Amino acid sequence: MANESSNKRDTKHRTASATDVGESSSLTPYILVRSSRKTLAIYINKNAEVEVRAPLRMPIPYIERFVLSKKDWIESRLEKRTRVNGEKAAFVLRYGDLLPLWGNEYPITAREGGRVGFDGSCFYMPPDMPSDEIKPVMIRIYRLLAKQYIQGRVEEYARIMRVSPTGVRVTGAKTRWGSCSGKKSLNFSWRLMMADKEVIDYIVVHELAHILELNHSPQFWAHVEKIVPEYKACHRKLDQLQEKLAAQDWDE
Ligand SMILES: [Zn+2]
Repeated sequence: MANESSNKRDTKHRTASATDVGESSSLTPYILVRSSRKTLAIYINKNAEVEVRAPLRMPIPYIERFVLSKKDWIESRLEKRTRVNGEKAAFVLRYGDLLPLWGNEYPITAREGGRVGFDGSCFYMPPDMPSDEIKPVMIRIYRLLAKQYIQGRVEEYARIMRVSPTGVRVTGAKTRWGSCSGKKSLNFSWRLMMADKEVIDYIVVHELAHILELNHSPQFWAHVEKIVPEYKACHRKLDQLQEKLAAQDWDE
C-alpha cells in the first residue's frame, strides 16, 4: 500500500488490473487468426483492433488465458493507438503552423504572387488557400527542397567515399527513409527533410555504403561508422521522428 501511494500513475494501473483479472467477461474483444505458426502472439493493428495469431489447433481456453494475462499491455497499446489515430484524423495544416525542416521549425506564411517555396525563415504560399490545399503544397515544397539538398549531400559524400551512384530520386516512402537498388540507384523519402542535418547525412552515407556492401554486415557498418561515428544516435532521432509522424497525416 505504501508503495502504491508513492506513485500515483502506477497505483491506478495496478488497481485496475487487480480487479479485472478475476472477471473473464471483461476479456478484450479480439480477432483470432489461426495459421501454421508455432507460437501465440498479440498485435494491435492500424485500426486499433486486437489481433491474436495462434497455431491451428491451440485450444480457446489456453488462448483466452494468454490474452487475459496480457491485459495491461493490450490496454495501454490500444489506448495509444486510439489516441494516435484520433490525432492523425484531426491533422490539419493552417497558416502560422510551425513545420520541421533540417531539425528546426518554420512557419507556414501567406505571400502574394502565386509562388510557393522556402526562403530560409518561412515556408510561403499564396494567401486564402483552403486548409486541405495547404498540405499538398507543403509536400511539394518538401519535395523540391529534398531534390536540391539531398542531391548535394550525395555528391559530397560520394566523393569522400569514392562511390558513384547511378541516380538519386526523391520518393514519398512512409517507413523507409532511404534505399539503394541493386543498380546503385539511391532513393530518399522527402519526409527525411524534417530530420536534423546530421541525421540526413547519416541516411545519405548509409545508402552510399550500400553501393559498397548490399547488406547490413559488420563490413557495411564499418563503412558507415568511419564517416558517421554517432550513427546510433541518428537511429534514435529517426525513431522519434517516425513516432511523431505516426500521429500526423502526411498521406499524399
Ligand atoms: Zn540499409
